[in-house]
Amino acid sequence: MRTKTSLGKISAVTTPRYRCTACGNLTRFDVTSTKQTRAFHHYSVGGELSIEDEEVLAESVELVACQWCSSDRSVVALTEAEAEAVDAAGGTA
Ligand SMILES: [Zn+2]
Repeated sequence: MRTKTSLGKISAVTTPRYRCTACGNLTRFDVTSTKQTRAFHHYSVGGELSIEDEEVLAESVELVACQWCSSDRSVVALTEAEAEAVDAAGGTA
């Protein structure tokens, strides 16, 4: 399973690839989602917080809009096979 995220630890939640059928955009989307996470909050003696080991417990994507043409009705999630095909074709990141 391929996930691109800055979070340190990832649960079984998958992040799909998207495609805008209106303009062909594969790389830039505005994703509105709700996440439930658990993380280790580590405070220094001075009270400075650093958040470590954030884990996504649940994620629900509410809206995906294309950043190029602003359409939120033309964006479709790619299947695993379609995403592989896009990668093989050298899609821009
Ligand atoms: Zn678009």
